[in-house]
Amino acid sequence: MWPHGRWAQCVGIAVFAWTLSRAGPAQAIPSPELVIGTLSSISQVFAVLSALLGGGAVAAGVGAAGRSSKRSRLTGWLIGGFGLLALAELEVEIRERRALENDLRRALGNGEFELHYQPIVDLASRQVTYCEALLRWRHPVRGNVTPAVFIPIAEELGLISAIGAWVLRRACEEAQTWPEHVGVAVNLSAQQFEVDDVFAVTLRALSLSGLCPSRLELEVTETLLLADKSETNGTLMQLRDLGVGIALDDFGTGYASLSYLRSFPFDKIKIDQSFVRELPERAECFSIVSAICEMARSLGMRTVAEGVETGEHIDWVKRSGCDLVQGYHFSRPVPASEIVAVIDACEQRFVAAA
Ligand code: C2E
Ligand code: MG
Ligand code: MG
Repeated sequence: MWPHGRWAQCVGIAVFAWTLSRAGPAQAIPSPELVIGTLSSISQVFAVLSALLGGGAVAAGVGAAGRSSKRSRLTGWLIGGFGLLALAELEVEIRERRALENDLRRALGNGEFELHYQPIVDLASRQVTYCEALLRWRHPVRGNVTPAVFIPIAEELGLISAIGAWVLRRACEEAQTWPEHVGVAVNLSAQQFEVDDVFAVTLRALSLSGLCPSRLELEVTETLLLADKSETNGTLMQLRDLGVGIALDDFGTGYASLSYLRSFPFDKIKIDQSFVRELPERAECFSIVSAICEMARSLGMRTVAEGVETGEHIDWVKRSGCDLVQGYHFSRPVPASEIVAVIDACEQRFVAAA
């Protein structure tokens, strides 16, 4: 006959399998992508580990129950209970995530997306040169869902092409109504380059809106350049030849490899806000930002300091040699209906400060 411990282990495994299989009605067993996607935070990984350990502990506790103290039995059941609670929490998260995915599939058709815009100010000319388009999802029940949450899901579900094309079209249309010296910067996901003809999509957005290509800038991140694809470089070059600006976003995070700067002649480098935030307190940040600005200048690229929140930040980024600034100090991202007034207010503020 099996010992108690073996029975308890079987029960633990069965509970684990049952919990996962109840994750949703549409799929008996969740896909590995779904489980991995759901286990995206350390706390969730911890939950599963504790569930598995809990199962083991139940087994140990029950196994020991026949021959050992009440204390070990109690400990086994306590840890096992904690494991089951963790599994229940995981199940709720998997359900939540699936509901969000279903809602995201319908969001574009339901007109739940809108673009907000944030000015990027040239420190020398004291003018707003571009406004960055930042996607917002107004969920009918959840309220505003942040792009940091839904963009990765849209990428996983293969929805980013349709969403990205909509963003480009809408941004070009809206920028057409702004003062002529102001362009629009649009974020592109690396996945769009994998599945779309980004050049054709951009050309279409420009021709439908009538926006001059020099008023459009595309922001890409290092992820795009990780896999050294000559095709991607070719597309970026085609866009640049058309007159569209190309900016490297969030520079300094991720791999920050200098070889990217050699591989493509970016118009701008956007220095990640984590450096700018700490500029006043940390001398290393000042050294790094100054070095990036110096290097960019010698490569013929301009620099944008992201996340400028205070007057003190402005002083420091000026001292570091940045050309442009973006951040809450000038304006938070605002809806399309407010951006022309915000552009005007930013420029007036500079005039008043002069
Ligand atoms: P990003 O392209 O680096 O955009 C800048 C982010 O910093 C925005 O967050 C903006 O609201 C925030 N920000 C600007 N100034 C400040 C500041 O002074 N302080 C602080 N703390 N934050 C500031 P948001 O709008 O939540 O967007 C997050 C990210 O989502 C973007 O980072 C971009 O990577 C992605 N994203 C947004 N819209 C799109 C889109 O249309 N397509 C794609 N593929 N990604 C997008
Ligand atoms: Mg950006
Ligand atoms: Mg950025």
